[in-house]
Amino acid sequence: MSTPLIYMDHHATTPVAPEVFQAMQPYFTTDFGNAASKTHVFGWKAEAAVEVGREQVAALLGIAPESLIFTSGATESNNLALFGVARALKERGNHLITVATEHNSILDPCRALEEEGFRVTYLPVNSKGHLDLNALKDSLTPQTLLVSVMAANNEIGTLAPMKEIAAMTREAGVLLHSDAAQAVGKVPLPVEEWGVDLMSFTAHKFYGPKGIGALYVALRRPAIPLKPLIWGGGHERGMRSGTLNVPGMVGMGRAAQLAQDALEAAGKRVAKLRDELWQGLQNKIPHISINGDTEQRLPGNLNICFQGVPSEKLLMALKEIALSAGSACTSDKPQPSHVLKALGMDDAAVRSSIRFGLGRTNTAEEVAYTVNRVAEAVAEIRAQEGIDF
Ligand SMILES: *Cc1c(COP(=O)(O)O)cnc(C)c1O
Repeated sequence: MSTPLIYMDHHATTPVAPEVFQAMQPYFTTDFGNAASKTHVFGWKAEAAVEVGREQVAALLGIAPESLIFTSGATESNNLALFGVARALKERGNHLITVATEHNSILDPCRALEEEGFRVTYLPVNSKGHLDLNALKDSLTPQTLLVSVMAANNEIGTLAPMKEIAAMTREAGVLLHSDAAQAVGKVPLPVEEWGVDLMSFTAHKFYGPKGIGALYVALRRPAIPLKPLIWGGGHERGMRSGTLNVPGMVGMGRAAQLAQDALEAAGKRVAKLRDELWQGLQNKIPHISINGDTEQRLPGNLNICFQGVPSEKLLMALKEIALSAGSACTSDKPQPSHVLKALGMDDAAVRSSIRFGLGRTNTAEEVAYTVNRVAEAVAEIRAQEGIDF
């Protein structure tokens, strides 16, 4: 009998919820219209569906629907925020600030902007993954255009104090962007109360489809300057041209609605499973430690260093459990995680760390099974490596 597969990599992606899939289906077939077609009912239906999706996403975040620009996902939203603001404001300054533990869809655009002549400060973090707010304050200059800080880290789950950061950037008259790909639908995101100016989202991290996301741009007077990346038909108020992904937008909306309904209960349930997993592993396996913060952390995240156990070997030994050694977006390049390195961990510890990403579909039975299998595999690998604690 084959062992059922267990999915514990919800930071990489999540399954589409059945309700989401059902909501999307008609927009592939019967209601396939182009939302920009103004002359017939097919177009009107598609446009109406897109606006419902926009309202549902906006409702989850407590923001105005018109403040959302639909994109292909958080990578594009991050690119649009960084290039869009920097290029629109290049007469006013040349400096951006971000953090060493950001996702590559922030760090790579920042490096590209450096090639365009911008200066970028990459703030360090402490061993829990938090940046030093005083260091942020000190690095703000009259040339600074934008600060970008992720709301929740995709490897270690550390939550940033966005409200404090926003108070600081507002006082300095600098725009604040946040990559909230991991935070949305997992923890409350009172975007307006925080005062964040731009925020990136992606549906596939909260049980919606892949290939659809959004950038929130606060409605201000005068408008926040933003130069589009993709030009063409002027869709999304000129900020993102291209025929709208109608099923995707419908799905993202439905996923947002489900997330809103379940936010508190699902968060508590997932956090409980995560704590059981950590307790179980700790009881059975010596010499393990948590990477990141135990308090300010995403409910489903656990990142553990198993001393003396190379992570590839552990992942190979646990073929029936989907886990990861770090960000899915960089795992084809066998480089040690830049996030764990930024915590000050040595190379051996970085290479012995595994990310567990629990989600809505996981059960207590799966957690118990995982504890036993990981304990077995760790003991075996340590024996092979000749390590005897
Ligand atoms: C997944 C992820 C992204 C990329 O999102 P896509 O929609 O897959 O492009 C960006 N930032 C963070 C923090 C992520 O977790």
